[in-house]
Amino acid sequence: MNIAEAPAQPQITRLDDYRAPDYLIDTVSLEFELDASETRVTSKLKMRRNPEGQGGPCILNGEYLTLVSIALDGKTLTGNEYQRTTDTLLLPQVPASFELEIVTLIHPDQNTALEGLYHSGAILCTQCEAEGFRRITYYPDRPDVMAVFTVTLIADAKKWPMLLANGNRQASGEMEDGRHWVRWHDPHPKPSYLFALVAGDLYCQQDQFTTMSGRQVLLEIYVDPENHNKCDHALNSLKQAMRWDEDVYGREYDLDVFMIVAVNDFNMGAMENKGLNIFNAACVLASPETATDADFYTIQSIVGHEYFHNWSGNRVTCRDWFQLSLKEGFTVLRDQQFSADMNSAAVQRIDDVDQLRSMQFAEDAGPMAHPVRPDSYIEISNFYTVTIYEKGAEVVGMLKTLTGPEGFRKGTDLYFSRHDGQAVTTDDFVKAIEDANQLDLTQFKRWYTQAGTPVLIVEAHYDADKQVLELTLRQSCPATPGQPEKQPFVIPVAMGLLSSSGASLPLQLDTETSAVDAETRVLTLTEQSQTFRFIHLTEEPVVSVLRGFSAPVKVKFERDNETLAFLMAHDRDSFNRWDAGQQLLIQIMLRMVEQYQSDKTLDLPEILLDRLQHVLDDQSIDPALVARMLSLPSENYLAAQMTIADVDAIHAVRKYVKQQIAQRLKAGFNTRYQALNQAQVYEFNASQMAQRSLKNVCLGYLMATGDPMQTQRCLKQMKQADNMTDLLAGLRLMVDQPGPEREHALRAFYEQWQHDRQVVDKWLTVQAVSDLPDALFRVKALLKHPAFSMKNPNNVRALIGQFCRNNPVHFHAKDGSGYRFLAEQILLLDKLNPQVAARQLGAFNSWRRYDAERQALMKKSLSDIAGAQDLSADVYEIVNKYLAD
Ligand SMILES: [Zn+2]
Repeated sequence: MNIAEAPAQPQITRLDDYRAPDYLIDTVSLEFELDASETRVTSKLKMRRNPEGQGGPCILNGEYLTLVSIALDGKTLTGNEYQRTTDTLLLPQVPASFELEIVTLIHPDQNTALEGLYHSGAILCTQCEAEGFRRITYYPDRPDVMAVFTVTLIADAKKWPMLLANGNRQASGEMEDGRHWVRWHDPHPKPSYLFALVAGDLYCQQDQFTTMSGRQVLLEIYVDPENHNKCDHALNSLKQAMRWDEDVYGREYDLDVFMIVAVNDFNMGAMENKGLNIFNAACVLASPETATDADFYTIQSIVGHEYFHNWSGNRVTCRDWFQLSLKEGFTVLRDQQFSADMNSAAVQRIDDVDQLRSMQFAEDAGPMAHPVRPDSYIEISNFYTVTIYEKGAEVVGMLKTLTGPEGFRKGTDLYFSRHDGQAVTTDDFVKAIEDANQLDLTQFKRWYTQAGTPVLIVEAHYDADKQVLELTLRQSCPATPGQPEKQPFVIPVAMGLLSSSGASLPLQLDTETSAVDAETRVLTLTEQSQTFRFIHLTEEPVVSVLRGFSAPVKVKFERDNETLAFLMAHDRDSFNRWDAGQQLLIQIMLRMVEQYQSDKTLDLPEILLDRLQHVLDDQSIDPALVARMLSLPSENYLAAQMTIADVDAIHAVRKYVKQQIAQRLKAGFNTRYQALNQAQVYEFNASQMAQRSLKNVCLGYLMATGDPMQTQRCLKQMKQADNMTDLLAGLRLMVDQPGPEREHALRAFYEQWQHDRQVVDKWLTVQAVSDLPDALFRVKALLKHPAFSMKNPNNVRALIGQFCRNNPVHFHAKDGSGYRFLAEQILLLDKLNPQVAARQLGAFNSWRRYDAERQALMKKSLSDIAGAQDLSADVYEIVNKYLAD
């Protein structure tokens, strides 16, 4: 072996350095002799020189591999005929086309990073996106090398009766030594990141799907045998997704079988490997007793997301990893549309925007801010971010708004037909939308290259004499790392005008001969500042802007409490009704934070209580929307609105507001709780979910009254619950109540559910986010609990991740104990699983936005991490970006 020293500093990869591959691969034949401690991989590659390449040597990627042999056109090479480093294999002399045969050994049981081939319980499985395939064999591990794969799996027949890989099952047989083999062939050329294999002793639930052209597809879900009764929901979701993609995007499935496998140890949510999706078990398994409504909802959306990748990602893939949002932004938009169609569109939009604002806006305002198409990275795993996914989806969503549903469909049809079987860029995507609609989207593409959240400043001026409303829209965008100046964006602003009675007013600009026939229209802001003049307005209108959140921007529009309360009651757009309520709450709560800071009496305006009372009593509003309108903005989101975040003041004010609302509206909460708390057989549908969500919001407020009767009611709900939604809602509330009943509830819950990993993770989380002062003490104790393993990413996220991200008042404790705790855990985790370790660093993202004392403490913890020996590239990149000036 001639392995060189690892590079001293992790290397930066830049988009500008992209070069087409020097060699292409037509076919790959892989043979795996599977074993947990040592797996032998034989790879045969039919390669040829790329006419568009630069004619360099043949370089293959490979990490953590033991090389057994390498042969070129049947001739075994000696050590001086190739060169190896820690991560490459270089062949200086190769003909224009040739066959390479490489044999390597790998060690799945030593793989705690969960990239490449690893084992999860008794299952052997793979995760190759983004760069895991190079841990399996030497290969040009880049998405623009697409090849046809044939895979033969050989393994002990008793231990691993199921052997799965991409494509269609081609042949199988028994061997004399007790092993068996299965051969898979995938006719669709694919990059190595979409390769997958699974070996296990699994329960398989089957179903059928008939595609729009009448082909039969076998659907299979593989799970641990004890979970055999938790597959129905994922299977139904898959069939819904397959039908939906045919109806809405005209996309048909293209293999004889579609398989989903659930594994317990997984770095992400799920992976769209061609024909063989591998899922984090938490994103597949559901039964009413063990999964909440939110879990059911997430599973439906993730099953859809991964399935939709079959076209947006697999058939048309990314040229390089800078284009990650090409597949992720578009596919997130597709899964959001799917969920909206299957459930409630208004609720879907509210939840998507809520997530975008609380997570992506924070990322865009912090040291990791990057464009939807980044320019450089050290570790690509760090760029699986809310910016690439959620903001990327908003960007594609704006293209849909600008072209309309039909124009957008023409664009996506052209994109799929033009680029089928290719590895392309976000520019190619935009070009297809342009060409199909005869549009110029040059300026629009700044959304892909400029980071930061634009600010939309709105000013309205009404002239009663002329009956004219002047609406001025201005935009700016704060500086982000490496981007001090920004050019104006194209911002679609959906808006409407309301009369004092809440009716829609005509929308006619002074350049038009008649009003548009709609209550909402889209103004397109392309300059720094533009003024729109609406005419024939006989009364001063109330302006409703950014309906449906038509662009991922922050709106600055000075409105008094009365106007916001009016919009909360009367806006024609459900999203904006909710949003007006949130803006009203934020405006009021931030003023109360100032009162708290200067020891003044906290003043909760009557108008808010009055409005919330109306919302609570209004039987005509979807209960799911009522539940969201009654929910207070999170402490993290409130903190993001302050120049210097004051965690203690926010916590105190939010608690006070909740108690005040609870006291004043107690009778209403009581009435609605009782009406909604009806015994019914659990079903996953929008109407039942809406009822349960409002019921549990009411219970939360009732508990906040401090009335001991309500604790009894909560315990009763837990006792009678036949579903996890109601049980967990009760437990969450009990965990914030000091006393013996809390301990009893936690103990009873664990005793009942200790055999179920997904439920135990919920039990860890409720303790991690508890309001009570012992939260960190408990989290530390739970690290030693038999239910917790540092090697399991779901455990880490449920306990450490939830404490650090969703328990701000304790994570940001003045003594720095939360920060020290996180730093210690990250250093331990980094040795096991760098991807998961780097993810946890996100809790420090906004560290410069706290007071000087806390900043100093966080900086100390970050410096402790940065100064540690042998950091992974993952953690190295993020910690150094956080510490950079
Ligand atoms: Zn995806």
